[in-house]
Amino acid sequence: MNIFVVNSGSSSIKYQLFNWPDEQPLCSGLVERIGSAQAEITHRVFGAGAPAEALRRTLAVPDYEAGLREVVRLLTDGPTAVIQGPAAVDVVGHRVVHGGETFTGPTVITAVVKAKIKELFGLAPLHNPANYQGIEVAERLFPRARQVAVFDTAFHQTLPEYAFRYALPTALYTEQRIRKYGFHGTSHQYVAGRAAEHLRNPDARLITIHLGNGCSMAAVRGGRSLDTSMGFSPLAGLVMGTRSGDLDPSVLLHLLGPLGYTTEQVSTLLNKGSGMLGLAGSNDMRDVGRALAAGDARAALALDIYAYRIRQYIGAYAAVLNGLDALVFTAGVGENDALVRARACQDLEFFGLALDAARNENCTGGLRDISQPSSRARILVIPTNEELEIARQCATL
Ligand code: ADP
Repeated sequence: MNIFVVNSGSSSIKYQLFNWPDEQPLCSGLVERIGSAQAEITHRVFGAGAPAEALRRTLAVPDYEAGLREVVRLLTDGPTAVIQGPAAVDVVGHRVVHGGETFTGPTVITAVVKAKIKELFGLAPLHNPANYQGIEVAERLFPRARQVAVFDTAFHQTLPEYAFRYALPTALYTEQRIRKYGFHGTSHQYVAGRAAEHLRNPDARLITIHLGNGCSMAAVRGGRSLDTSMGFSPLAGLVMGTRSGDLDPSVLLHLLGPLGYTTEQVSTLLNKGSGMLGLAGSNDMRDVGRALAAGDARAALALDIYAYRIRQYIGAYAAVLNGLDALVFTAGVGENDALVRARACQDLEFFGLALDAARNENCTGGLRDISQPSSRARILVIPTNEELEIARQCATL
């Protein structure tokens, strides 16, 4: 079974093609800057005889459909071909950000499912429209394939009501569906699964910490999400690359009222101009690390705020789980940044966490345990693989 996994953004397409049950993809790639004359495609083929180098090409890609057509050409024609034609794709697995309260697992896409995803545009205006467009284009380009949606929110649909409700008048939940949804579910689910396997404990109490451009944490027990730091939207919780994370809602009122911001300006400020970018001048943690090493006080404070928020959530989720078997770091920052991990694990002996400084510094490769042997709870670094998790869920479905 050939499963093509696609993650459609507003100006990008990330993809992998699997010949299931082989968990190593046949190829993977990324189209960036769709809508520009200088779009970029990076495509990599795996397996025996494949070139070690990724193919990179700059070209005009006017719209999403043109981008996906280029990808289909790479899959089917010339030296990068791995399948005979689009008809060889059996399943297209789509990442869809918001599944609302309707979708609690992977779902075969029908007209009814599409209508529901469209209804959710109001709740996820920055993400669902791009995901929806990806589905419509894939239906045209892979007419024989079954289309499947895997939702970022689905894993968190197991939160108890007292965890997902806000203390707002009930009608705002029952009529407007204002509640915590949580995101990054596919990543939390994947790393929690790998951690439970590694610990040989299906009932493990885990705190999973996804630190990429977007950042979120989840409290997971027995493979079920019990709480998570993102909320009604991906703005809540941790300090992120460009998002503020938790704020007193009065700050918004102050911006909108006395300071005269428009709603759109507030949205741009909180989603694109805050977080590490707002605090330290860059949303890339590598820049922040370099600035810190050069003695930049703004960078030092930004990192303190970033790590302090993570530690606060570790404390909160250890309480939610009534104990802790392992912390799991994942995604771009979590997998690569030893300083962030060290700061996030500082002074947590009370929770049975003792980081091994040398293991933390010298950690590369797959799943790694960076805790001291005497640590009561493990500290793990597990590379996330959302595409593989999506392919697995498609195959299971
Ligand atoms: P996304 O949320 O976009 O999927 P990723 O999980 O790929 O993001 O994480 C991207 C972020 O990871 C970058 O913005 C950068 O801050 C960080 N990052 C990547 N590599 C490193 C590294 N070697 N050290 C520190 N941070 C890194």
